[in-house]
Amino acid sequence: DAWRYAPAPEGRDHVKIAPRYDLFIGGAWRAPASGRYLDSISPSTEEKLCEFAEASEQDVDLAVQAARAAYEKHWSRMRPLDRGKYIYRIARALQEKARELAVVESLDGGKPIKESRDVDLPLAAAHFFYHAGWADKLEHAFPGRDPRPLGVAGQVIPWNFPLLMAAWKLAPALAAGNTCVLKPAETTPLTALLLAKIIEEADLPPGVVNVVTGAGATGAAVVGHPGVDKVAFTGSTEVGKRIQRALAGTGKRLTLELGGKAANIVFEDAPLDQAVEGIIGGIFFNQGHVCCAGSRLLVEESVHDALLFKLRERMATLRVGDPLDKNTDVGAINSRAQLAKIEELVAAGEREGAARFSVSCALPQRGYWFAPTLFTGVAQSHRIAREEIFGPVLSILTFRTPDEAIEKANNTMYGLSAGVWTGKGSKSFWVAQRLRAGVVWANTFNKFDPSAPFGGYKESGFGREGGRQGLLAYLEVD
Ligand code: NAD
Repeated sequence: DAWRYAPAPEGRDHVKIAPRYDLFIGGAWRAPASGRYLDSISPSTEEKLCEFAEASEQDVDLAVQAARAAYEKHWSRMRPLDRGKYIYRIARALQEKARELAVVESLDGGKPIKESRDVDLPLAAAHFFYHAGWADKLEHAFPGRDPRPLGVAGQVIPWNFPLLMAAWKLAPALAAGNTCVLKPAETTPLTALLLAKIIEEADLPPGVVNVVTGAGATGAAVVGHPGVDKVAFTGSTEVGKRIQRALAGTGKRLTLELGGKAANIVFEDAPLDQAVEGIIGGIFFNQGHVCCAGSRLLVEESVHDALLFKLRERMATLRVGDPLDKNTDVGAINSRAQLAKIEELVAAGEREGAARFSVSCALPQRGYWFAPTLFTGVAQSHRIAREEIFGPVLSILTFRTPDEAIEKANNTMYGLSAGVWTGKGSKSFWVAQRLRAGVVWANTFNKFDPSAPFGGYKESGFGREGGRQGLLAYLEVD
């Protein structure tokens, strides 16, 4: 038959992917007005997984109308405790279907199954659990400030954590009493569509969550729709700036979670073996398709050679290949376009005089792949030190004093995250206070929790997601 069967997670049925997905609008699955569908391609095989609808302005308009009606008739009037129960239902369903969703996430986006299984899925469920608890406690979170929802939220998300980003957007918006129109990324629409199915089965009132798939034009239609009260965007700095300009003067509330070029700072007194694990995870986790990836390693000159030796040894043990193999550490690059961008920046690094080391490993014949790579001898002026590569490529710079490390770390247009590795707790606090980054990890990296606000400084965007602070993005408070 036309269904595609993906390999079964242990002890389960095969994962079924429908041949074609429509739009989820007003609680029903609707064909797009234009009749146009786009192909979903698996980046590890270049095979077509299925087709998904391309929503036009007309479809987006229907979705916004459905969200408005659901907001006025149901969601904003419902007892907060009952809203919380619906959100708990979504959280539990994500846990129940975690194995299947993890397989689809890895097939659609290319990330290793051990990451989608152990990171994306548990964190997505946790985000709904955490925010379900807030639904009836907003009065306590903002005492005396009369917290009220904003209305309809238009939410546009990227392809690097497709389900998790959907959770980051929907959970706080719903807990705060808003209704949503979500636009997933065009290379990874599948888990957001499966989440829509979960939401349908959880019996949320029709229109509370709408999912409109498509490319950039669909996203622009969502953020530009006059019926949208709040826009939440996660994606590139370039598109974020475009949205900010487009919304100027409209009175819509806006939060932007954009790119990054995080510094991972290693002092000579750091536990080096632990740091190596943090550096490897910091840059090769999810093929480096991470906005807070530790893509600039700043290492104290005295330990540069020792650290580099350990890093190269550890890189050689990384297993690159089939995302559905449980032993895989580094999966496929998300799309052909992203692979071309990585190759271009790596070529610029070589041209500008940095020394390249890539692990030599056999890469699959089909699909989009890039071997884990690092550059030494990187200068701050090099493109690979300044631009977000969003791939498995680490740029190494050195420093001699803490002040120099801080100066170099802050010498970027971004400010999303940073890491500090030192044996002295007081030093990590001293450095963290001077870093212009929304998140600073000490002796660890890429750790997330729904209760911890996440967001950027400078061109990494504004607003926070997660924690009590993240709720502010979806509330009017006096
Ligand atoms: P992108 O900006 O190209 O696309 C993001 C989303 O915006 C997609 O759904 C896309 O279809 C849509 N879009 C494109 N043009 C649009 C427009 N004019 N109006 C409205 N929507 C539009 O980014 P990407 O390549 O999908 O994602 C990678 C980027 O996302 C990286 O820069 C990364 O750092 C960033 N990111 C940031 C965070 C964070 O929390 N700060 C998290 C993940 C990814």
